[in-house]
Amino acid sequence: MNPVIPIRSAETLGCANTAVISEKGQRQVFCGLTGIIWLHRKIQDAFFLVVGSRTCAHLIQSAAGVMIFAEPRFGTAIIDERDLAGIADANDELDRVVSELLARRQDIKLLFLVGSCPSEVIKLDLSRAAERLCKQHMPHTRVLSYSGSGIETTFTQGEDACLAALTETLPARTSQGKHLLIVGTLADVVEDQLSLLLRKMGIDHFDFFPPRRSTTLPAIGPETVCVLAQPFLADTAKQLESKGVKRLEAPFPLGAEGTTQWLQVIAQAFAIDHTRFEEVTQAPRQRAEQSVARHRTQLQGKSITFLPDSQLEIPLARFVYQELHMKLLEVGTPYLHRQIMAPELEQLPSSTRLSEGQSLELQLDRCDADQPDLIVCGLGLANPLEAKGFTTKWSIELVFTPIQGYEQAGDLAALFSRPLARKLKLVA
Ligand code: SF4
Repeated sequence: MNPVIPIRSAETLGCANTAVISEKGQRQVFCGLTGIIWLHRKIQDAFFLVVGSRTCAHLIQSAAGVMIFAEPRFGTAIIDERDLAGIADANDELDRVVSELLARRQDIKLLFLVGSCPSEVIKLDLSRAAERLCKQHMPHTRVLSYSGSGIETTFTQGEDACLAALTETLPARTSQGKHLLIVGTLADVVEDQLSLLLRKMGIDHFDFFPPRRSTTLPAIGPETVCVLAQPFLADTAKQLESKGVKRLEAPFPLGAEGTTQWLQVIAQAFAIDHTRFEEVTQAPRQRAEQSVARHRTQLQGKSITFLPDSQLEIPLARFVYQELHMKLLEVGTPYLHRQIMAPELEQLPSSTRLSEGQSLELQLDRCDADQPDLIVCGLGLANPLEAKGFTTKWSIELVFTPIQGYEQAGDLAALFSRPLARKLKLVA
């Protein structure tokens, strides 16, 4: 099976050995609590209890929207001044809050205690608290912990920390035969589309992780292989590998080409015949190519800079370069996991300027010098950049919107073309 790498121009491809600008300055990103927004929608019997301050509660509520009529599946156990001063026993308080919550909400089967900056500052040991509470509330409710603190995590790392904790609870697989684990939160509609394609190819033994319900955790064993569907899951991948799960190296399923390559890697691992693969993927792939092409007319030749935010930057850069024919100026990412990114890096032009970490002033100076047509950046930077005349796209939208798979390729392209179209209308 041949890899699908279109030859577009005389540019040399391959960034695997390119020198990376390492930035260690001021950061402008959300903390890992943000992941709760999409995780609580995915695992439908889980509850995320942030052990934090009113600031943490405001972040979660304003990012997720306040649910007035529904019973929310996230909340904050507020650490107040008494706790910070060491007056109250925070562990007793936490046990009380958890007991009250679980008595009232019998539907909660999995409770995450989510650490924050304040719980870290007062050195509240949430992993021990989770063990203690698990003894009290199992088998009805399992209690796990992870950190979403802004001191330890940025934005999408919250999902990584959550899934790494959940990995510890995966049961052992007893049935025989090769089994696939697709790792990373995807919208249900994307999972359904990918499931259909895999089944049509003849792959029946697969699971998504995280599952939709904590009571259906996927079992793993020596014949399990995993493939990442999201690029920010380095710790989860490491945990799975330490349990004997082999990770398939693949680009991410973004765009027509990314999805084809991702599926090809899976098909090869399961020895799926090339003709069968083509039969199954040809029609959706063509649909995806056509829907992307509609946006290419507008985006072709336009320059783009990615400021570090979500860890999706490198796969997105590959997509806009390869399928929308945009010109990459700088691709910044908070963390560069070379092994995970290897299949993506080899498809970027070797001239791409890569940066890891953040040093806001320096990166903004480079934007001023480069004058990109479009900047993908965090929410907090978009308004000041727009005020300076730049056109921006919030990277958080690329995390919240279903963008994986063939049927979403056009929507993904639209996320890049829309800000430029809006700008044209404004100046017209
Ligand atoms: Fe702010 Fe830290 Fe709470 Fe995140 S965890 S909202 S950075 S205080």
